Amino acid sequence: MQIFTSIADFQLWRENISGTIGFVPTMGALHKGHLSLVEYSNKKCDTTVVSIYVNPTQFNPSEDLSSYPRDVDADIKLMKYYNVSAVFVPTDVMIYPNDFSTVIFEQQLSSKLEGISRPAHFKGVTTVVAKLFNIVQPTHAFFGEKDAQQLRVIQKMVLDLNFPVEIVPCPIIREENGLAMSSRNEYLSDDTRKRASIIFHSLEMVKKQLQAGETSSKQVVGFIKKTITSEPLAKIDYISVANSKTLVEIDGNLSGEILVSVAVFFNKTRLVDNFTIIL
Ligand code: AMP
Repeated sequence: MQIFTSIADFQLWRENISGTIGFVPTMGALHKGHLSLVEYSNKKCDTTVVSIYVNPTQFNPSEDLSSYPRDVDADIKLMKYYNVSAVFVPTDVMIYPNDFSTVIFEQQLSSKLEGISRPAHFKGVTTVVAKLFNIVQPTHAFFGEKDAQQLRVIQKMVLDLNFPVEIVPCPIIREENGLAMSSRNEYLSDDTRKRASIIFHSLEMVKKQLQAGETSSKQVVGFIKKTITSEPLAKIDYISVANSKTLVEIDGNLSGEILVSVAVFFNKTRLVDNFTIIL
């Protein structure tokens, strides 16, 4: 497995790679959610490239950039074990040199849901992903449905800017108790992890209600709120019931493909989860 910390060295290597290239961009502290993306890429593509880069521009000033979990050595070992062809681990100055002054900003989907709580977030995400696509030049890129809005924003960027990359959505991988896997789960004590599974259970219950004929978005939001707030440690950031494509909130009767998503704080740790359903 090749390990690159320099863009130029990576590009030299890339020149000699032909066939399909699957790309898995990550912020490291790899867990089974990331590993499933790598497995999808290994299955679909001739070559798999994984990037590990904690992108500072997608963190708001009050967020956890400095404490974000990092363990590059362990990540690299795992990637070797998973037969990844190359790992790209750039530094901040390489990605954002001092005179860096260009951003990519998707302007419709980015301001909704996560964008309300995290105004600069998607500008940082699209800018770094566009840069990584230009460097890696993948034929396919794998993104988790756990970050449902991120997936949609990237799909829109690829469409709007004609990136020659196929975006492959991958299902949410969960801990045994249902909690969606996340690098940020490392912040949680065992007890809090157990309690945080209420997020998944509230979504599962509401999914069943929708499958049984519930069509009121108010009922859905009310039920999730009541269920999650029964857990004293939980502090809801938002509950959204939105059109799955446009991310516009649905206020009345639900129909078509909808995205139900939530962001919930457990102490300082912000956890997200979601599901889509066609009604
Ligand atoms: P991150 O390192 O958090 O930026 O995530 C890198 C990629 O892994 C993104 O496409 C995420 O959506 C995906 N991912 C993170 N957690 C999970 C999970 N539990 N299941 C599936 N994909 C995930």
